[in-house]
Amino acid sequence: MYFSRFYRLREGEEYPPRSGPIGGDLGYLKYGVFVGDNRTFSVTLATPTVDDELRKMLADPVVFDSCARQLVATAPWLDGRAQPITEQVHVMAGLLNRWRQYVRDGRPLATGLIPVGDAVLCTNPLYGRGCSIAFWGAHLMAQAVAAHPDDPLAMVGAYDSALRAEIYPWYRAGVEQDAEARRVAAALLAGDDPDGDTSDPRTFMRSVFRDGLLPAMRSDAVVLRAFFRSFNLLSPPDAMATDADVGARVFAAWQERDQRPPEPQLGPAHRADLLALLPA
Ligand SMILES: Cc1cc2nc3c(=O)[nH]c(=O)nc-3n(C[C@H](O)[C@H](O)[C@H](O)COP(=O)(O)OP(=O)(O)OC[C@H]3O[C@@H](n4cnc5c(N)ncnc54)[C@H](O)[C@@H]3O)c2cc1C
Repeated sequence: MYFSRFYRLREGEEYPPRSGPIGGDLGYLKYGVFVGDNRTFSVTLATPTVDDELRKMLADPVVFDSCARQLVATAPWLDGRAQPITEQVHVMAGLLNRWRQYVRDGRPLATGLIPVGDAVLCTNPLYGRGCSIAFWGAHLMAQAVAAHPDDPLAMVGAYDSALRAEIYPWYRAGVEQDAEARRVAAALLAGDDPDGDTSDPRTFMRSVFRDGLLPAMRSDAVVLRAFFRSFNLLSPPDAMATDADVGARVFAAWQERDQRPPEPQLGPAHRADLLALLPA
């Protein structure tokens, strides 16, 4: 669930230096700051839906601001330089991945209709892919219409095939990322260590992400470019994992994880620590 509040800089104040992180993922809480126009910005905090306690607390504007001040990337924004322009905390739920099949066994289920964008496929907004997917899908539709102007069945079939080949993998990636995020959040909510089972391949992948990919992105332009190609849907979701050169660079950074300081914490490491800092 998203919790958002909007702010405007006070007269004479400026945005904080924008050289550090703009958000973070603590496992039990994800967050970010988003700059707007006219000296405005918003802060968004996101909790798992199962966390009833935190979910109810963050809907209170005082608790919300207090929480944002405990988080490394948002604290400088709420140090008094800005004032809220929304009295309430805006809450948004129902963040999901959804694939609607308009074609089954090669036959359209509804004629006279070609859906695009969220109507056919939507991914969790957290991943920021919806607009790119919608534009890309519209291009695939235009190509199918141009290729089969006089044959509606072939037109719809070509469009459906293109969606399945190009865009469906991003839906699957969203489903898998959400499942992993839910697993981690549930473990943290229960007071368990999500990385406790070292034989679990997911634990290994989290370690490679945290201690391999993240540091490599800061020091290796090849890895950084590969990440942004994937982030902007210019390469398939598994491109980074299957590129031998990128993989070798990420693992080289991971191998050196004990020879450098641990990755910086972007907020209280434990949910209980954050709760203890919030007003009752
Ligand atoms: C909170 C949130 C954050 C997001 N963040 C990002 C992000 O950072 N990056 C990103 O790429 N994507 C993001 N997305 C996803 C992105 O907004 C959508 O994927 C994208 O807008 C889909 O475009 P669309 O044209 O399919 O649908 P929409 O943009 O929803 O457009 C559908 C339009 O149809 C109108 N409509 C509905 N019913 C009718 C009717 N009966 N008659 C007439 N009009 C109607 C609606 O009012 C709406 O204007 C986010 C989504 C949400 C909810």
